[in-house]
Amino acid sequence: MSGPPDAAPGRPPITGVPAPTLCQVLSTQPPYRIDQLQRALYRESATEFEQILTLPTPLRSALAQRFRYESLDAVHTERSSDGTRKTLFRTADGAPVETVQMPTERAGATTICLSSQAGCGMGCTFCATGAMGLTRNLTGSEIVDQFLHFRRRSDADRTPDRAVFMGMGEPLANLQAVEAAVRTLVDPAAVGLSPRRVTVSTVGLPRGIHAMAGWGLPVSLAISLHAADNDLRTHLVPVARRFPLDSLMEASRRYQRRARRRVTYEYTLLDGVNDAPAQALGLARLLRGQRCHVNLIPFNAYPGARYRPTPRAAVRAFRDTLREHGLRATVRRTRGRDISGACGQLHAGALAPDGGVRG
Ligand code: SAH
Ligand code: SF4
Repeated sequence: MSGPPDAAPGRPPITGVPAPTLCQVLSTQPPYRIDQLQRALYRESATEFEQILTLPTPLRSALAQRFRYESLDAVHTERSSDGTRKTLFRTADGAPVETVQMPTERAGATTICLSSQAGCGMGCTFCATGAMGLTRNLTGSEIVDQFLHFRRRSDADRTPDRAVFMGMGEPLANLQAVEAAVRTLVDPAAVGLSPRRVTVSTVGLPRGIHAMAGWGLPVSLAISLHAADNDLRTHLVPVARRFPLDSLMEASRRYQRRARRRVTYEYTLLDGVNDAPAQALGLARLLRGQRCHVNLIPFNAYPGARYRPTPRAAVRAFRDTLREHGLRATVRRTRGRDISGACGQLHAGALAPDGGVRG
């Protein structure tokens, strides 16, 4: 099953309640109660209705009887020596979800790396989440609640101010819930992030990219490319067979025009597979003339991985070739590798040390 359960067992989570329903529930209350409730839910540190002291006690109890405050239960958190934290959650029906909080370059701020699905069905051959397979899509509320979990519990010096869909799952394979979550993340009356501080990273589903272009929001788009030719790309990203590079580049160009944003191309460097100088030239040729940025990701290993990371000097050489051909290119700084919290390492404990998948 890939869809979320129609009715999660028990009370529905409050962040998933549509505004008209909420207005109905609060219809006997003064109009300012909605603002008080929303401020507490999205901006403050309360972790249960009981802690919203601006609301009268009977209302707090009535809300608690009807709704869950948080849709996810935190099972445990691991801390990396570089300040990254990874939390394993369980949904109400037991699906595992991992979310990462990373320090940002800007002092005092953090980025939340959100999951859009429990597991992933895309099967990329270099990704631990891909090796797990898909358990199910997350709801919009389960996505937003990952962000809120950290916002409610973070000290002022670690305030989350950026969200990237780079955790588990393929966001554009769960388009409706991801759009709902993004709208809540950028709604000034809700989470209130700047759209530019929300990044959707996709394996490259053209239809989803076209849909995003219609959102009318200047959110950042990152496309996972990994190869500039169809044969190698299909080997690394099996779904690419259905979406050849020309249709992907067409969708990307359209997004650049519609959102007036530079697109980021992510390229995970795999030793001896996609890191040769000729492959850097091929990439420069493919992206010529685009408003884009290339983010090179050093490969992060995991139990059973069949690739090795490109040596550092070769990573720099690859980057320099792209720059010499007029592209903006940077190497992503790796965070949280010691707690399996880096890109492509999230597997919610589902991979056995020999690389098999735990039942
Ligand atoms: N499904 C989306 C977002 C999640 S993956 C996507 O594929 O874009 C986030 C990024 O991590 C992607 O660019 C992905 O290609 C990259 N990635 C996956 N496995 C990796 C690994 N083992 N090492 C380094 N990067 C990896
Ligand atoms: Fe899924 Fe992205 Fe991993 Fe591919 S790289 S398996 S799309 S999470």
